[in-house]
Amino acid sequence: MKFISIDKKDWAKGIEASRKTYTLFGPVKDKNSFLIKKLENDILPEMDYNDCVMSAKSVIFPQTEKMLVTSLDESQEDHHIMKKSETDTSPRAVLGIRPYDAKAMELVKLNFDTEDYRDPYWCDAYEATTFVGLGINKPGPFDFSTSTGSGPFEEAGLDVLLADFDDKYLAKILTDKGEAFMDTCGFKTSADETESGVLFDVLKKEAEKNIASHIDTDKLKEKILLELHEAPFWDDFAFSCINCGTCTYVCPTCWCFDIQDETKHKSSIRIRNWDTCMSSLFTRHATGHNPRSTKTQRVRQRFMHKLKYFLDKYDQGIMCVGCGRCVKSCPVNIDIREVCKMMNSYEKQN
Ligand code: SF4
Ligand code: SF4
Repeated sequence: MKFISIDKKDWAKGIEASRKTYTLFGPVKDKNSFLIKKLENDILPEMDYNDCVMSAKSVIFPQTEKMLVTSLDESQEDHHIMKKSETDTSPRAVLGIRPYDAKAMELVKLNFDTEDYRDPYWCDAYEATTFVGLGINKPGPFDFSTSTGSGPFEEAGLDVLLADFDDKYLAKILTDKGEAFMDTCGFKTSADETESGVLFDVLKKEAEKNIASHIDTDKLKEKILLELHEAPFWDDFAFSCINCGTCTYVCPTCWCFDIQDETKHKSSIRIRNWDTCMSSLFTRHATGHNPRSTKTQRVRQRFMHKLKYFLDKYDQGIMCVGCGRCVKSCPVNIDIREVCKMMNSYEKQN
C-alpha cells in the first residue's frame, strides 16, 4: 500500500494544479452548514467540516438531468428523432467526500450498473470521477456507520483516503485513479508504509470508539418478508410522517427518479428529476389507481427497501451506510435506528 505525506502548506497549490485536468467538487460552507458543490476557480474545499447536509450523490446523479433531446423542426432531416443528450464525461474529482458517502455510491451502483442494463448517465459520470475521501476523526452524534458495514475510515468506493494530522494529510492511495490524481497535484512525498499504516490504524480505532450510536442488523436476513410487511408497528411509525421526502433527498443511497418531457418552441427534452417514494404521486398510475395510496404503505416501503428488500436481493448488507442524515433532518423525528430495532427483533405473535 502506498502512502503520501502532504504538508498542508502545499495543499492549495496542489489542488490548483489539478484544475488543469479535473473539474473539482468539495465541501463549501452554506449558511450554517456545508454542501458538496462544484469548486469554482480559486475556491478550495473546506476540509475542516463536520457534517454535510447533502451527500455527494448529485455529482454523479444530478437533481435534474437532461437525457434525450429532440428537434421538432420539420425542416431538419432528423426531426422527431430522440437523441442522447451530450453529457460531460471529462475527469472530475470529489475532494473531502466522507467515506460512508463513497461506500453509498457502491451500493447505488448495484442498481445502475447491472448484468442486464447499464445506465449510461450514472455510470459514465461515476467512471469519470475520482473520489478523494477524508476520514472522520470526530464522528457526530448521528453517525452509526460502523453498524452498517461502513465507518469513519472505510475505504470502499474511494480512490484516495486522507487522514488529517493537524499540519499534514497522510494520503492512502487505493487505486490507479487515485495515484493519477495525486500526481497531477504534484503530491509525491512518499511516507513510510509501516509507520503510516500504524498511524491510520490508531486514528481509525479512536474514531470508531467515539461512535456512540449503534444498530443491530444481524437478524434481518432471516426474517420472513411477508411477516415484516404485515407487522403491526408500521402505523405507529407512519403516524407523524408528513411525507415531505427530506429523508430520501438527503440520503446517499436513495436513487428514485421521475422522467418527464418538456417542449419549448421547436425543441423537446426528456429529463429525469430526483423523486421520492414518500410522495403519494410517486406510484400513482395513469388510471388514477395508486398501489401505495396510504402514508403507512409509503413509510413501510422506504424502510422495507432499505432494510429488507435490498438485503435479500443483493446480499450486500442493508441499503444504509449509517450517515444519520435522515435522522437529523426529519422534521418529526422518525428514526431509522428505531425502525431497524423493531424489524430486527420482530417475532410474529400467533
Ligand atoms: S423526513 Fe420524516 S416526515 Fe419527511 S418523509 Fe421522511 S420520515 Fe416522513
Ligand atoms: S437511510 Fe438515513 S442513515 Fe441510512 S444512509 Fe440514508 S440518510 Fe444515511
